Amino acid sequence: MKLPRVGIIGAGAAGVTCAAILQSAGYTPVIFEKSRGVGGRLATRRLGSGEMFDHGAPYISGKSDIFSRFVERAISESHAAIWAPWWRGGDAREGELFVGIPTMNAILKHQLNGIETHFQTEVASISRSGEQWILQCVDDVAAQLDVIVCTAPAPQANRLVGSRADFATTLERVKMSPCWTVLARQAKRPQAPAFDAAAWPTSEIALVTNTSAKPGRSCALNCWTLHFGKDWSFSNLEAERNEIVQHGIAVLARILGLSAEDFDYTSAHRWRYARTEEAVQTPFLEDETQSLYCAGDWCLGPYVDNAFRSGLCVAEKIVHCHGRAPSTATSIS
Ligand SMILES: Cc1cc2nc3c(=O)[nH]c(=O)nc-3n(C[C@H](O)[C@H](O)[C@H](O)COP(=O)(O)OP(=O)(O)OC[C@H]3O[C@@H](n4cnc5c(N)ncnc54)[C@H](O)[C@@H]3O)c2cc1C
Repeated sequence: MKLPRVGIIGAGAAGVTCAAILQSAGYTPVIFEKSRGVGGRLATRRLGSGEMFDHGAPYISGKSDIFSRFVERAISESHAAIWAPWWRGGDAREGELFVGIPTMNAILKHQLNGIETHFQTEVASISRSGEQWILQCVDDVAAQLDVIVCTAPAPQANRLVGSRADFATTLERVKMSPCWTVLARQAKRPQAPAFDAAAWPTSEIALVTNTSAKPGRSCALNCWTLHFGKDWSFSNLEAERNEIVQHGIAVLARILGLSAEDFDYTSAHRWRYARTEEAVQTPFLEDETQSLYCAGDWCLGPYVDNAFRSGLCVAEKIVHCHGRAPSTATSIS
């Protein structure tokens, strides 16, 4: 039996999970990822000096049984660890929190396990030719595929596949909020900081975390990440990066009882599509040919758990439709 060639757009939690399941069923999926590495919003910025900032999801909270089992396995294989931060003002999050080791994307990286992945390869368009899909990349690379799974955030997916199927109306219903983040390294390690993490439920600032306080990170200096709240981020979405850095540093200095001069590395990152506010509440979308799919956290909710389960479900659907290689078993959980 010849299994279809599956192309996956995006190497975030949904895309990598989907690819890993397909691989374990005997498929040879190929991933196209526009950025330089794996992880998507599970992102860590590393400095040459060894310090790092988790500037996307600051932690992962396992909610569903299947995702919790996946995280437990990642912990047993030293790709993740429990993080029990010292919260400013007491416990601010219910349940256990996890982080990737040594970087947030570690829980996905080891799953790539030989899967053909093209980084810095942005998919520009998708078109149909006979029974196949032609995936055209920005740098002129083109690929012929039998099945496509697009795991880009819904608004980006809409630009790629909205006109190809009856997806546009559903994709337009998804609401995703932005998040400006500011990164700042404290020039000297002070006495232990007053907290590892601080949260404000409804305000300009959503969260401040110290990546150096996480397990498995060998950072000499405190590396603070400030996540601005969604409303503030939305109001300032098109502001200059420098303005955001300046404002963020002033806020951090105030919260930490420091001055702006106490930080020797500063930066900002804008996540235009950070969190799912309204999901479609179905694990994935599929067209009538059962060869074009959309998946991602935005199908089910705002967490890595949701992205994982969306990727898992779409892979299981493909295996259900097209079969598996003899003597293979799905092994992700
Ligand atoms: C600031 C912030 C805070 C968060 N906090 C939490 C939290 O506390 N807990 C939690 O569980 N989750 C949190 N999340 C959400 C979590 O990170 C996401 O739910 C999850 O990582 C989404 O995975 P995904 O695979 O669906 O999408 P993504 O991780 O966005 O992956 C999609 C991938 O597709 C790629 N791509 C897009 N378009 C193209 C194209 N045209 N061609 C090629 N590649 C393309 C992108 O580069 C990206 O790598 C947070 C996210 C952010 C940004």
